[in-house]
Amino acid sequence: MEEIYCFAGNPLDRASERRRDAAWILSLLVDPAARILPLSDLRPLTRGSVSPVLDWQQVAPWRDRIEHGATLIFLGLDGERPYFAVDASGADSALARDGEPLDARTLAPLLPAGEAAILAEARSLIDWHARHRFCAQCGAPTRVASAGWVRRCPECKASHYPRSDPVTIMLAVRGERALLGRNKRRPGSRFSCLAGFMEPGETIEECVRREVHEESGVRVGRVRYLACQPWPFPSTLMMGFLCEGLTEEITVDPEELAEARWFEREELRAMVARAATGPDDPTQVSVPGPVAIAHQICRRWSYGLDSL
Ligand SMILES: [Zn+2]
Repeated sequence: MEEIYCFAGNPLDRASERRRDAAWILSLLVDPAARILPLSDLRPLTRGSVSPVLDWQQVAPWRDRIEHGATLIFLGLDGERPYFAVDASGADSALARDGEPLDARTLAPLLPAGEAAILAEARSLIDWHARHRFCAQCGAPTRVASAGWVRRCPECKASHYPRSDPVTIMLAVRGERALLGRNKRRPGSRFSCLAGFMEPGETIEECVRREVHEESGVRVGRVRYLACQPWPFPSTLMMGFLCEGLTEEITVDPEELAEARWFEREELRAMVARAATGPDDPTQVSVPGPVAIAHQICRRWSYGLDSL
């Protein structure tokens, strides 16, 4: 089995074959066992300040808001218990009573693995609805259907589905060294894997080779898939790779990177170990923390758990 990283491992049964049945969804909404996660401006409500958890609430107090058009998502079933998410942006404070909205990126590492994945599902869907209110084909306002999993156009009858944008993220390795870049938008000494969005008409391997070459000038040969991670900011699928650096000389794309550098395996291993135990020390080079797949790719290669 593959390794499961933050935002992956969703335990819910999405019941995708049944969720287009509006009567069934309505029966789930009135089930007293049903739970709903309100998100206010894409931030989930939470309970507990020391170790916050998602504030799963009863549906009843939210029913009026749902009937007045708040975006509602059927997330899935855990056994018999249905789970929903609702866009609670602008809800009055009585509804949001003891829940404190928290940024999903801050919260995710503190949640049990499956909960972070459910949060990713809810956040990506609610964000997609907020940004896709009009038909991409004819411009008419669209309506939510299939319990939040489709938007339909009443004018031209087009159906629009929520999407995930594929991103490749990779560690180019050459013998005992690996290539990392430092983003120009991020000050300090944080390095990470190179990454970029896939473009239409290219394979995953071609995307890996193009991105590494564009950003660093390094040519890439073999490409090996490692693992992937949903990343709900707003809705990408991070697909992680090791790839073979064929050339050594670095020419950074100044639009993307402030710097790129080859790191020895031992040095990278030390960076991974530091990132796993605490916040960045600005006097030392660093990699992202364990929530990010970049960390996991660096860990797997630098500890010799994976090779090309
Ligand atoms: Zn249309």
